[in-house]
Amino acid sequence: MTAARLVVLDRDGVINQDSGEFIKSVAEWQPIPGSLEAIAALTRAGYRVAVVTNQSGVGRGLFSEQTLEAIHAHMSKAVSDAGGQLAGVYYCPHHPDAGCDCRKPKTALLRRLERDLGVSLEGVPFVGDRMSDVGAADAVGARALLVRTGTGEATARALGKRNIELFDDLAAAARAILAER
Ligand SMILES: [Mg+2]
Ligand SMILES: [Zn+2]
Repeated sequence: MTAARLVVLDRDGVINQDSGEFIKSVAEWQPIPGSLEAIAALTRAGYRVAVVTNQSGVGRGLFSEQTLEAIHAHMSKAVSDAGGQLAGVYYCPHHPDAGCDCRKPKTALLRRLERDLGVSLEGVPFVGDRMSDVGAADAVGARALLVRTGTGEATARALGKRNIELFDDLAAAARAILAER
């Protein structure tokens, strides 16, 4: 069986520039060059694109859930202005110590995505920059792709000998996914 025509993306360090100080406002959300166009290319090719992101800044009291929603509205508009579409933006707002079941590498957000879209994530490309992305992808049988943007270089080093698909950025990862068809 072929995988659903779906691509899952982490947000910070994949779509937009990451910050060690968290992305706390719409103004701090700055796309990585080529990422919006990459989502547009996937959309045009018939892929649904969903975002799954850990946003513990909410749980840490650094910004409100309302601000996070505003950031995501801005991101979705930036994607549509580029000609793409987001099928969903799923986030964990909890503090890492909260023990929730949705903070990646936990899988509750991914399972919700499966239910909402009516698909299995088995074999679905999941593009991330952190070990928590790779772990979440592994846990649901998705296909982990790592980008060098964000903290991807460090993650690649930490993975050591594990053979993972590694790309310069989301644009390169999307080109590879599209070239397979
Ligand atoms: Mg990230
Ligand atoms: Zn959570």
